[in-house]
Amino acid sequence: MKILVVEDEEKIARFIELELVHEGYEVTKTVSGREGLSLAESNQFDLMVLDVMLPELNGLEVLRRLRKSSEMPVIMLTARDAVMDKVSGLDAGADDYITKPFAIEELLARIRVALKKHGSAANVEKDAMPDLAGVLTYEKLSVDVVKRTVIYDKEPVSLTFREFELLRELLENKNIVLSRDTLLHKVCGYDYVGETNVIDVYVRYLRSKIDDKYGIKMIQTVRCVGYVIRE
Ligand code: CA
Repeated sequence: MKILVVEDEEKIARFIELELVHEGYEVTKTVSGREGLSLAESNQFDLMVLDVMLPELNGLEVLRRLRKSSEMPVIMLTARDAVMDKVSGLDAGADDYITKPFAIEELLARIRVALKKHGSAANVEKDAMPDLAGVLTYEKLSVDVVKRTVIYDKEPVSLTFREFELLRELLENKNIVLSRDTLLHKVCGYDYVGETNVIDVYVRYLRSKIDDKYGIKMIQTVRCVGYVIRE
């Protein structure tokens, strides 16, 4: 497994590198966001550990540009209490984030979860039958879970990794009310440690991209319980 570490604080970068190598990962590290981006675009990595605060091209910008061409799992390193960084990072397509200072075991656990999640998603895609079974629908919305595309009335809808996962989960369980906890586990993984209101944030994003945009009421809030899409 190849991991790219982008972190401008040499001591932290070196520390992460040593630990990852010790765990058997192949590590490439760089102190520059710009170089990180070009390395990621020109090489095959399995995962990227990306610091938010980088000089010149910051981590969020690196991630935004990377997501145009790659779905590689990305774990962001953010400063303590920088809630905006976390939300922006997840919105820009990060798979997870970890707050500095962090215990290396936590980072290793997050890496394992992200790699596993990504690996199983890839396997599902490979095994999927080439028929309509991979397409979930709601009124004029269709979600192709194999191609990972979302179309509303012939118009493509662009979703981040987690927005897509949330929508998929709700559509696969149509008419069943899913709790925030269930959604959190499904969308962010069982090892997710962080704000539990993160699901509310994603629901808000999905509603603004689909419900509000197309004037429909797709995702319903069930007070004190969670969310549901009803046919
Ligand atoms: Ca930094």
